[in-house]
Formats: sequence, structure tokens, C-alpha cells
Amino acid sequence: MPELPEVEAVRLGLSSLLTEQTIEKIIVRNEHLRWPVLPHLSKRMQGAKILEIKRRGKYILLHSTQGDLILHLGMSGRVLVCQEKRELGPHDHIDIIFKNGLILRYSDPRRFGSLIWTPNPAEKHELLSHIGPEPLTSQFNAKQSQKLAQGRKQAIKSFLMDAHIVAGIGNIYANEALFLAGIHPSTPAGKLTTNQMEILVRSCKQVLRKAIKAGGTTLKDFQNALGDPGQFSQQLYVYGQTDKPCRRCNTSIQRLTINQRASFYCPQCQNFRK
Ligand SMILES: [Zn+2]
Repeated sequence: MPELPEVEAVRLGLSSLLTEQTIEKIIVRNEHLRWPVLPHLSKRMQGAKILEIKRRGKYILLHSTQGDLILHLGMSGRVLVCQEKRELGPHDHIDIIFKNGLILRYSDPRRFGSLIWTPNPAEKHELLSHIGPEPLTSQFNAKQSQKLAQGRKQAIKSFLMDAHIVAGIGNIYANEALFLAGIHPSTPAGKLTTNQMEILVRSCKQVLRKAIKAGGTTLKDFQNALGDPGQFSQQLYVYGQTDKPCRRCNTSIQRLTINQRASFYCPQCQNFRK
């Protein structure tokens, strides 16, 4: 599932290729995504110019002269910008065709993703209104996080992955940030000291920045809008590294399940757990 760095990699690609471009038409081959695609979307967006492409959490927001589009990749969604008509795959559900010949193709085998049109600014849409702060802004900070964590027995890893707490951190980057902070993933969120929360918030920002720089993490088939894989998988410390030696201390990385999600940690480097 794409997390913030992967979505940001897609956004950057779309932004460089499609800003200022005008939509000629939209072909919807399968409207049954997580939320049904608006009927007559093509009519509604014909002639619309893309003004700006932004991101909020894992949502990509395409601001246009004729309303906004909200794109979510779900579990397996993928967008690719191609020049001419490529052979269609079985999961190529939507083509947005631009006047300059570029095509934004949306594919999604599991169809948990979505493309939503809204007449209002995308940021105001109900899907986005309850999302927590962007992790790379000052609104995500230790003070606020500790306030939210107070009294919580929930594992700190699940806490980080809760989009109401902070936007866009999923399984990969929660695991990695906890390793960098030296905190065991099942530590109750409310047990972290001020100092630990500060280190953890800093670690989240650090790992996300590095992953964005590397173009995200490609595990199975993530690609950015240009079809390139992300390079961050080579920098992972714990995620998917079960039984491999810790890059810091050589102890074998362990795996456990927290809230039904695979969790990875170094028993030596992440020993804090109350
Ligand atoms: Zn270690």
C-alpha cells in the first residue's frame, strides 16, 4: 500500500507533466472503484485546465478550472502518464486524455482506490477533513502527539499509523521510525516519555524525508507516474528484514504481529517497553 513518500513521488511526477495542461476527455472503463466514479465525469471536466497538483496525506489533489479531482491509490492503484495509446491492461480503469496528447492512466487490480470529483476545493472534502497533521509540518510535533497519546494503551506503532493522529504514515515508515528512535513497536503509546516522543517525531520526519528523496519504496510493484520504481527499499533497517542482522548491532531482526500488521524490530536497539 503506498504511503506518503510513494504518493509524493507520484504527485511530483504528475505535477511536472500535467500542470497547466487541458483535459480533452476522460474515458471511464470501470466506475466501480472504492467510491463510484461520477457519471459524465468527462463532460464535467472537458476543457478543464489543471492549475496545481497537491497532496494531503495519501490523497493527490488535482485543482482545475472546473472543480477538483481527488485521487487515492488504495491498496494497489497506480497511475502512469504515457504519450500515446498503450495496449490496455485488464485493470486500466480510467484514462484522462490531455489536449497535448498525454494520457494519465489509472490502473487498480483490487479497486480500493478512487477518483472523486468535487465542485469545492478538495481540501474541504469530507474525506480529508478528519485527517491529522502533515508529518513534515510543525503541526506534527512531540507536544501535541504526547497530548493525544496520554493514557493510551494502544501500541505506539498503531498510534503512528492512525491517520487521525498524523497523515500518511503506514506500516513501512512506522516500523522504520520506531527503529531509528530505539522504541519497541508494542510499547503503549501513553508510556512514552517527552524525550522519547521528541525523538520519535524527529525520526518520523527523517525517514519520510529520506524516502521522498529516494522516490519511495518499491516492494512489489510501486512505480511513480513515469514508471520508475522507488529506491528506498535499499535503505530499510527493519521492514521485511526478519532474521537478517541489524545494520547497527548485528542482532537478528524479529517479526511480530501488532494489530494484524507485520511489525519488525531489533530486540537489542529497541528494548524500551513498559
Ligand atoms: Zn540492532
